[in-house]
Amino acid sequence: MTVTRFAPSPTGYLHIGGLRTALFSWLTAQHNKGEFLLRIEDTDMARNSEEATEAILKAFEWVGLSHDGEVVYQSKRFDLYKKYIDQLLEEGKAYKCYMSKEELDALREEQMAKKERTRYDGRYRDFTGTPPEGVEPVIRIKAPQEGTISFVDGVKGEMNIAASEVDDFVIARADGSPTYNFVVAIDDALMGLTDVIRGDDHLYNTPKQIVVYNALGFPIPKFNHVAMINNEQGKKLSKRDGATDVMDYKEMGYLPEALLNFLVRLGWSHGDQEIFSIEEMIALFDPKNINKSASNYNLDKLLWLNSHY
Ligand code: GLU
Repeated sequence: MTVTRFAPSPTGYLHIGGLRTALFSWLTAQHNKGEFLLRIEDTDMARNSEEATEAILKAFEWVGLSHDGEVVYQSKRFDLYKKYIDQLLEEGKAYKCYMSKEELDALREEQMAKKERTRYDGRYRDFTGTPPEGVEPVIRIKAPQEGTISFVDGVKGEMNIAASEVDDFVIARADGSPTYNFVVAIDDALMGLTDVIRGDDHLYNTPKQIVVYNALGFPIPKFNHVAMINNEQGKKLSKRDGATDVMDYKEMGYLPEALLNFLVRLGWSHGDQEIFSIEEMIALFDPKNINKSASNYNLDKLLWLNSHY
């Protein structure tokens, strides 16, 4: 069964770019009579808020994208993440790194001076000595040191990333809290994701997540990285080009169906058809037809669509 998800970080309102990604995921699930899950990525206590979570859920309700099952909150799953950190340590697939901030900075400067890419040098990978005093270790995962990490992206095609691009990255900070790529991979695996559809700003997180999947023996889902929405000049969409908060479109009197129709056409096409009912979108949507390049936002199109509903 196809399982997709939307996984917003609750740092503010629901952005229309986020809604488009969610729509692509939702349509993929509906088209395949699968499930669409919602996960709130609220592990960053400093930047996340309950109001933002509520705003996102409200926007979802307004546009009518229903999700299956309970909403999953990462903030409630720390015990689970800890279990996997302990497991990887026990299996020797992760290790404690006692490098201090000063040492890390010095390494970084040295690499920069040599015009090398900055990366952790694995110095605690096989450490068996007495740990230095006064340093709380971080936990790093052992990433492959040779070869390539490969995956076929449904939108971008074949991706081959040299293993040297991925260092032994931190999976738990010194205070024990797990890091972003680690928890995303665990959640996507445990939630049974078959298809991950997300913005291509996450494309280079994928090799790291694949390292986590492999270390934990989880099956790897299909990835589809969707290009960002640009303004008409081909630059990143900003508030100057129109509202970016989904709920602003409600305030302005747009119909949710028109907004969804507008968004589905930003990055996906079916011949030259412009107007789609939700049922047609479900029947016709296939992530294979998601465009490779970024799509341009044009408010006139939305106005035009809105007058057709
Ligand atoms: N929480 C991430 C974001 O809001 C999305 C992560 C993902 O889709 O894998 O950008």
